[in-house]
Amino acid sequence: MKTVLITGCNRGLGLEFVRQLVNFKSPPAKIIATCRSLEKAQELKSLQAQNKSVHIIEMDVTNFESYNDTAKRVKELVGDDGLNLLINNAGITTKFTRLNMVKLDQIMDNFTVNTAAPIMLTKSLLPLLKAAAAKSASSPLGANRAVVVNMSSILGSIELNKKEGGFYPYRASKAAINAATKSMSIDLKSEGIMTICMHPGWVQTDMGGKQAPLKPDKSIKGMLDVLSNLKPEHNGLFLQYDGAVLPW
Ligand code: NDP
Repeated sequence: MKTVLITGCNRGLGLEFVRQLVNFKSPPAKIIATCRSLEKAQELKSLQAQNKSVHIIEMDVTNFESYNDTAKRVKELVGDDGLNLLINNAGITTKFTRLNMVKLDQIMDNFTVNTAAPIMLTKSLLPLLKAAAAKSASSPLGANRAVVVNMSSILGSIELNKKEGGFYPYRASKAAINAATKSMSIDLKSEGIMTICMHPGWVQTDMGGKQAPLKPDKSIKGMLDVLSNLKPEHNGLFLQYDGAVLPW
C-alpha cells in the first residue's frame, strides 16, 4: 500500500501504528497521521521530522464541518494514488458504567467519536478510497486496493458479553460501528473497497491502562500482519489483532 491515513496518532495505538509503518520493509509513501492537537503531539512531530513520508493533519474528529477541508488536504497529499488504507482509530471510553449511573452526555460523546466520526470520515474520503481501488482494478480486494479499518473493541461484541454488563456508552457505540462496518462491507465491495473492524486486544495505553496484558508494539505488529495478508473473504469481518475472527 502506498497511502495510509490514521486518526488519533498523538498517543496510544495510533502513534504506534505510525512508528511501525515508517519501519516497514516497504513503507507507504504517504503516512497521514491525524491528531486533535499539534501541541500534544511531540512524539508524532519527531517521527515526522525523521521521516519524510509522515504528514500530520490536525483534526478533532467531532468537528464534522472540518471534514471537507481535511479531504482536500488528503487529496493534495495523495494525488492520483488515492487512499489505500483508512484506519478510523481515534476513540474514547467511559469508565465502567452501571445503568443507574450512566449519563446521557457519556452516551452521546461515545457515539459521536466512536460511531459517527468513522462513518462520516469514511464518507468524506470515499472518492480517494475509490481512486486507490480503481488503480489496481485487476487485484483482489485487499490492501493492494483500498481498505477501511474501523477500530472496534471486544466490548462491542454482543455475543461475547456474557457476564459483565455495564459500559453502556462504550459497548453500544462499538456495537454500532460494527453494524456500520458490515453495511460498508456490502455497499463498498463493488467499488473494490474492503471494510473490516478490528479489536486490538487489551493493550497498555491511556485507555487500556497499565494492567492490560498486551504492549502496543505486539498489538500493532499483529494488526499490521493481519492487514498485509487480507484476502477477499475477510471483507466485513470483526478481526482480533492476532487474526482470530470475533463474533458479533
Ligand atoms: P488512547 O486513549 O490511548 O488514545 C486515543 C486517541 O484517540 C488519542 O490520540 C486521542 O487524542 C484520540 N481522540 C479521542 N477523541 C478524539 C477527537 N475528538 N478527535 C481526534 N482524536 C481524538 O486509546 P487507544 O490508543 O488505546 O485506543 C485506540 C482505539 O483502539 C480506540 O478506538 C479504542 O476504542 C480501541 N481499543 C483500545 C483498546 C485498549 O485496550 N487500549 C481495547 C479495545 C479497543 P487526544 O490525545 O487529543 O485525546
